Amino acid sequence: MSLGEALTILRDEPDVTVVAGSTDHGVLVNIRALRPGNVIAVDRIPELRGVTRRSTADGEFIEIGAAQTLTEIERELGQAVPLLGALLPQFASRLIRNSATIGGNLGTGSPIGDTPPALLALEASLVLASADSERVVPLSEYFTGYRQSVRRADELIAAVRIPLPLSPLTAFHKIAKRRFDDISSVAVGYAVTVTDGTVSKARIGLGGVAATPLRAYATESFLEGSPWSADTVAAAAEILRSEGTPMSDHRASAAYRSAVLGTSLERFYAEKSGTDGTDGPGGPGGPGDADGLQEVRS
Ligand SMILES: Cc1cc2nc3c(=O)[nH]c(=O)nc-3n(C[C@H](O)[C@H](O)[C@H](O)COP(=O)(O)OP(=O)(O)OC[C@H]3O[C@@H](n4cnc5c(N)ncnc54)[C@H](O)[C@@H]3O)c2cc1C
Repeated sequence: MSLGEALTILRDEPDVTVVAGSTDHGVLVNIRALRPGNVIAVDRIPELRGVTRRSTADGEFIEIGAAQTLTEIERELGQAVPLLGALLPQFASRLIRNSATIGGNLGTGSPIGDTPPALLALEASLVLASADSERVVPLSEYFTGYRQSVRRADELIAAVRIPLPLSPLTAFHKIAKRRFDDISSVAVGYAVTVTDGTVSKARIGLGGVAATPLRAYATESFLEGSPWSADTVAAAAEILRSEGTPMSDHRASAAYRSAVLGTSLERFYAEKSGTDGTDGPGGPGGPGDADGLQEVRS
């Protein structure tokens, strides 16, 4: 099936259920007895597959097809995008990552999905395709409420775009009850640039602390322009603890979720202090150096 054919079905039959790797959908079928009438599988649609490096008038970016599995992304981008290289081994297990797609993780709209905090820190955008048009939406504007988004019923997530160059200091912290095969209680993605000892850019994506994944805007703006120092980070951690509107559930209390945000930022600084990243993954062969990728100019 081509993308055009799939989008035509979605336009003509808005009640059809979309599945990709089915690792989330399958749980609903097994446990919640979901029995959708018509199902359309998008995981083998050629136009939704592949990873490319693209250049357009809007700049350079890495484009990941929505039906790319997490194992494929781990292999293709684990080195070139170190934040994804840090995230993906912590996502479920190899078994799940072999089927689960990036489009499916975003398609669930879950506030505790693992890719959104990392992709928010990377300032990713989503390509949303319908039978009649295509639009690009920043991920920071995509989620509108609990499992709600700006995506219309006749649209598919076609691709994820990660702009280049990447910030050199990155990390993904997943706080969960079990080390593997568990859903996050809280997840934090960091992408920070330090120039001459000062934070010139800070992007922090959060999961598990609100009804949607979100950017830690107040913490980001406090960090930017401040020295990259323990004092700055201690003050920023205080702000980060107050971001979001965490709730208590069987995974963690609201108080724990807030507290762990501050600890996460302090840990990030402890891991990265003393470097601006240029000798590490920010140097040649590091982030933004996605040389092995097929390049497409349009
Ligand atoms: C044992 C286990 C462990 C797990 N661990 C984790 C974890 O650590 N972290 C985590 O985040 N999740 C985890 N999950 C949840 C799940 O694996 C992920 O959300 C996965 O990325 C879903 O991808 P999929 O391709 O299987 O999606 P599917 O199950 O096929 O679909 C999920 C949803 O996305 C929609 N969708 C799929 N593709 C598209 C598209 N291109 N455009 C629009 N909508 C689309 C579907 O309609 C559906 O609503 C786990 C699940 C299991 C069973």
